[in-house]
Amino acid sequence: MNNNEQNVKRGGISVDTEHIFPIIKKWLYSEKDIFLREIVSNASDAITKLKRLSALGIRDGGDETYSITVRLDSAAGTLSVEDNGIGMTEEELEKYICSIALSGAVDFIKKYEDESGDAKNGIIGHFGLGFYSSFMVSDRVEVITKSYTDAPAVYWSCNESGEYETSASERADRGTAVIMHIAEDEKEYLSASKIRAMLEKYCSFMPVDIYFVDESEEVSEDKTPEPVNDKSPLWQKAPNECTDKEYKEFYRKVFLDYKEPLFHIHINADYPLNFKGILYFPKLANEYETIEGQVKLYYNQVYVADNIKEVIPEYLLMLKGVLDCPELPLNVSRSYLQTNTYVSKVSAHIVKKVADKLVALCNNEREKYGEIWEDIAPFIEYASMRDKKFYDRTKSALLLKLTDGTKVTLDEYLEEAKEKHENKVYYATDAALQAQYISMLEAEGIKVALLERPIDTQFATMLEQYMTDVKFLRVDADVADAVKGDGEINESEQIKALFADVAGEGVTVKFDRFKDASVPALLNVSEESRRMEEMMRFYNMQNGASFPTESTLVINNASPLIEKLEQTSETEPEKAKRIASYIYKVSLLSQKKFSSEEMQEFMKDSFDLLMDL
Ligand code: ADP
Repeated sequence: MNNNEQNVKRGGISVDTEHIFPIIKKWLYSEKDIFLREIVSNASDAITKLKRLSALGIRDGGDETYSITVRLDSAAGTLSVEDNGIGMTEEELEKYICSIALSGAVDFIKKYEDESGDAKNGIIGHFGLGFYSSFMVSDRVEVITKSYTDAPAVYWSCNESGEYETSASERADRGTAVIMHIAEDEKEYLSASKIRAMLEKYCSFMPVDIYFVDESEEVSEDKTPEPVNDKSPLWQKAPNECTDKEYKEFYRKVFLDYKEPLFHIHINADYPLNFKGILYFPKLANEYETIEGQVKLYYNQVYVADNIKEVIPEYLLMLKGVLDCPELPLNVSRSYLQTNTYVSKVSAHIVKKVADKLVALCNNEREKYGEIWEDIAPFIEYASMRDKKFYDRTKSALLLKLTDGTKVTLDEYLEEAKEKHENKVYYATDAALQAQYISMLEAEGIKVALLERPIDTQFATMLEQYMTDVKFLRVDADVADAVKGDGEINESEQIKALFADVAGEGVTVKFDRFKDASVPALLNVSEESRRMEEMMRFYNMQNGASFPTESTLVINNASPLIEKLEQTSETEPEKAKRIASYIYKVSLLSQKKFSSEEMQEFMKDSFDLLMDL
């Protein structure tokens, strides 16, 4: 116990508005444009509150129509937002507007919360700061308001230093007008196109009709004004009430993407997680297009931001879509989001929904799934590499595109492989270049998968880590048992020496017997060393190209050409050497792309051989 307790003074930190105002102006929101969202959200809240009072029977709403008008008067230098919502009495204005950080929304919720906790439903305000964002762009803000009660209308005017005056107003209509006198250095907010763009970005789906009036524009009498927003966006409807056409139209309108999306996922989570949204798998224009999606985050139909990776995992940001998370505070810090359990649950739910949809498509609509596979494969592969949980959920929906054009699931492939090449997945990265190897495998009924994109092979490496029994082998990595023929293997020292000489160091010469006698030799490159080299090249490691790859030249004992070569080597050793060198080059040609020097040399050899014919 403090002996001097009697001398201790206590108090609350007091803050002067004149100090706080410049801070608000500068720091309240990183993006100034947001002020319009805040003021229009307040107007929308005011209408939502009034509707709620009608719904609760506290007042008779009759068949009132509610709307917000955003009016730009560039000649007068003002931008105003007017609503016919709940309005404020002088006391309310004093309480909610004149004292910063006293949110009327919170008070309203407390007062009118019904048993189900429903009062909060649809009300946007939270912090009691939004209104002041108007000072980020204004040097004076006026409020003219009339409460839905009998209380008289009030006029309030406040300058940029926070000095205000209040007086009686003549206003007869219920509702509030906020008139912002745009500051000298913020003139861009007096441009109609700027305001239109801001309304489009932030207010497109707000739940009350919003009209934009540009006073400098002549409007013909017979033109009925159209709201700038769609107050019932598709995501708010129940999925079974939405048509395919509506989903496509919504996509086109929101993302201005005229390519049809591949498919969509409508999330409508009620209890215990409250959020809704529609996610689309976009169609890529071409394989070179960078995969960059756009997931727009809304809070009760008010736009918050794009691509918030705390809410949707970064690897799903390749998708395009909208998410409405009403439990999310409008203006929150990233670090807050990272630790918020609602946010992490939403994120996990999205992952589950996307994965479930893929599996459902694969199981129930295989043909369609097969058709879109090539477009969605990079998404799925990337997502699986980033998140094991996503992989676990979608692994049954992984397809392999085969060289014969068909598509099978990885499970189906492995099932079929059991007999001839258990747990081995043969693949090609270039069907034309590797045609020799592919045709030998196909002749034996072995299916070959096409892994043409760099991500495909990286994904295969990941699959091997998760399915430890399974091995992905490029067609030129080994000679499959199935293509081997019966019969004795003659390891002729002479032939071995001949090929060892022409192939040079680093190439091992081996003998085998293939069913296909027309192929004299095949070059195999060890899967591990080739992948290592590819990886080094991928990560741009300098000496990647010179990384030693272990290659083996397999001589086919069944080949009559080899048999002939053996005879020639005894009678005409020089000629035999030229033939061996040519065979080696042909086998090299079907394994990799020739450099220009290699190609020129090969052509020269070909012509020289023709001369001898
Ligand atoms: P928040 O909206 O986060 O509660 P604001 O600073 O934006 O905080 O607004 C403070 C309060 O002022 C609101 O909660 C509301 O009670 C009142 N208010 C603001 N704008 C309006 C309006 N257009 N109509 C009625 N009340 C309003």
